[in-house]
Amino acid sequence: MPTIEKNIADVKARIQAAAQLADRDPSDLLLMAVSKTRVAEDVRVAATCGIDSFGENYLQEALEKIAAVEPLATEWHFIGPLQSNKTKQVAENFSWVHTVDRIKIAQRLSAQRPAALGALNVCLQVNIDREASKSGLMAEEALKMAFSVAQMPNLRLRGLMAIPKSRSGLDSQREPFRKLRLLKNQINQALDNSQKLDTLSMGMSEDIEAAIYEGATILRVGTDIFGQRNS
Ligand SMILES: *Cc1c(COP(=O)(O)O)cnc(C)c1O
Repeated sequence: MPTIEKNIADVKARIQAAAQLADRDPSDLLLMAVSKTRVAEDVRVAATCGIDSFGENYLQEALEKIAAVEPLATEWHFIGPLQSNKTKQVAENFSWVHTVDRIKIAQRLSAQRPAALGALNVCLQVNIDREASKSGLMAEEALKMAFSVAQMPNLRLRGLMAIPKSRSGLDSQREPFRKLRLLKNQINQALDNSQKLDTLSMGMSEDIEAAIYEGATILRVGTDIFGQRNS
């Protein structure tokens, strides 16, 4: 079996096994392939293996790839740091943005979202380990931000996203994901019924099992699908 196909089968098997142990329905888990640094052909191969959601971090690279892969029915997720001067093209070319952490970015995305595409799905990025070097909201800022973003006409606030520090061992990997899950619950208690968050974007190649145990709904997997990145 070619590598990408085999890797996807292996990741899907891990997801199945973890979902079973966690008593979760695997159909509630979206496997997103993180295709940053990969060529369009790799995306096509993954798409023919049943992957329909792809994550990209760098706008220019993503736009070229989206154009190259276009005839395939793929959904594109923006998962990189987002500056104001990039919001228009993101609003026009992606279905999801996982990295909203400033009100100004959210306002621009809402204003620039073409009506014909429907609402843009967004997650608030939370700096769950409170690392000075990382972007994302502090947990205590997330509720206020959620209230604001939930009111924006062309955005649909779906949930929270985090990139915790790398940890080894299932128990310690679960800690930051548990915090994110509890934060989502806390925010949901404050939001109207029509606005409840349904998404936890968490879990990468090394910690999808821990994320599944703690309620992840979108798993962002790069390396274990496409191989090591040379950066
Ligand atoms: C690169 C990246 C991933 C994928 O990480 P892997 O360890 O290669 O699976 C997931 N999420 C974000 C935000 C990334 O930048």
